Amino acid sequence: VSTTRILEVEGLSARYGHVEALRPVDLHVEDGELIAILGPNGAGKSTLMNAIMGLVPTEGRVRFRGRDVPRRAPAEAAALGIVLVPEGRGIFAPMTVAENLELGAYLLSDKREFARRHERVLSMFPRLKERLTQTAGSLSGGEQQMLAVGRALMAEPKILLLDEPSLGLAPRVIEEILQTLGELNRQGLSIILVEQKAPLVLTLARRAYLLSVGTIAAEIDPRTIKSHDELAHYYLG
Ligand code: ATP
Repeated sequence: VSTTRILEVEGLSARYGHVEALRPVDLHVEDGELIAILGPNGAGKSTLMNAIMGLVPTEGRVRFRGRDVPRRAPAEAAALGIVLVPEGRGIFAPMTVAENLELGAYLLSDKREFARRHERVLSMFPRLKERLTQTAGSLSGGEQQMLAVGRALMAEPKILLLDEPSLGLAPRVIEEILQTLGELNRQGLSIILVEQKAPLVLTLARRAYLLSVGTIAAEIDPRTIKSHDELAHYYLG
């Protein structure tokens, strides 16, 4: 099967002062793939997502469909179709659900296209539909995460980056969100899913990268992971 790479990361590194949060990292995502980035607290997972978006100063390259993504220009990355749902969701609490969704499509002027995307997001997350006039801050944690994903989808991403969408949510809600991500992936969306709790995503991901102290320690084929012990082996080295 011939595939094309939607995203290629080459020698991407980032530092905060003297802290080398990300050592040169190489990874790629094939078109239509859902990959997972796993790793313990402080491994550099969020830094990697922010580095891909150009939200932090980096060295190295990020290519989208073979074309260089300008560094330190997150709006340009987003315009190319690379969209991040950040850790902590990044929604605007005092604004309504509807307003938050609108922000996701701020680059769009075509009203019919806006309506089409809006309809699609609300059919995917019916709970948001019932709460359009409510402030985002008054939503439950799970609903806020759905709003964050919904807002990202309003930008019609080509590749969606999600930084620990399960954080602080009940297992049932996590299950619901992961199912939606699986569905989006089946519809052809490329996804990078950052997750600390590996068992959650290994059923969903085609491949997984294990990040440890700012570096890719292993690439894992989830189909070959047969037990929790084996996974622990990856984590502990
Ligand atoms: P978590 O799962 O806890 O979110 P993570 O894998 O996402 O962790 P990062 O948040 O990327 O890890 O952090 C990687 C390293 O960089 C950590 O040692 C962290 O303390 C450091 N770091 C992150 N942000 C900053 C910052 N703004 N200033 C200084 N150091 C930072």
